[in-house]
Amino acid sequence: MNGGPLVIAIDGPSGSGKSSVARGVAHELGLAYLDTGAMYRAATWWCRERGVRLDDQLAVAAEVAALPLVMGLDPQAPTVTVAGVDVGAAIRTTEVSQAVSAVATNLDARAELGARQRDLIDAERVGGFSGGRGVVAEGRDITTVVAPDAPVRVLLTASAQARLARRALEVHGSDSASALAATRDQVLRRDADDSTVVEFHQAASGVVTVDSTELDLAGTVAAVLAVVAERTGVRP
Ligand code: C5P
Repeated sequence: MNGGPLVIAIDGPSGSGKSSVARGVAHELGLAYLDTGAMYRAATWWCRERGVRLDDQLAVAAEVAALPLVMGLDPQAPTVTVAGVDVGAAIRTTEVSQAVSAVATNLDARAELGARQRDLIDAERVGGFSGGRGVVAEGRDITTVVAPDAPVRVLLTASAQARLARRALEVHGSDSASALAATRDQVLRRDADDSTVVEFHQAASGVVTVDSTELDLAGTVAAVLAVVAERTGVRP
């Protein structure tokens, strides 16, 4: 590799497969993995735990500013810890999924979490004083706001139908009509709410779009690795 910092930024909507793809790419390249959505989820979990109303913007911002959050960046076993509690499972519940947009659309909370994400990414830059591993960071605004200087920036897309079916399989173990209907809010409504503060449906200038509609996980990881190789010369 060229000795510069290898930071790979991946954005995409719900169900685009970005978490699995980002973990796969990080694993193949020996990089750290940062799930920024998990940080918004952890903030949401914490506010609920503390009894804060999510529509109270000032109170939410104050809780997020003091959020005792530790992210573990191993792509094979990422962890999310809040005040010493492993919240890895608790942040994936339907309640948190349905509530998280309230925190994600709070601009003070976004500024705080974005600053923490930048610090975590900077600590992993290869060649930095910390001797970081390099990092794959995924979310909604990594290519545009958090790490617009990343040497590799990818927007992962998939048709709405494919995204709904993937999430339904993940959450309900089936992509039957009733499972699809139950998943609709978590995917399409959440994306619509999130789109009011961040753009993740159109690739910004310099961002490469990878469409995973017709690809499986291995195929999508391979497609992203091809972008990395083309942009940086780095290969697994
Ligand atoms: O990716 P995941 O579904 O876990 O993200 C949870 C939520 O976190 C998203 O619906 C969005 O509201 C928020 N988010 C965000 N910016 C990011 C990552 C996630 O607003 N960079």
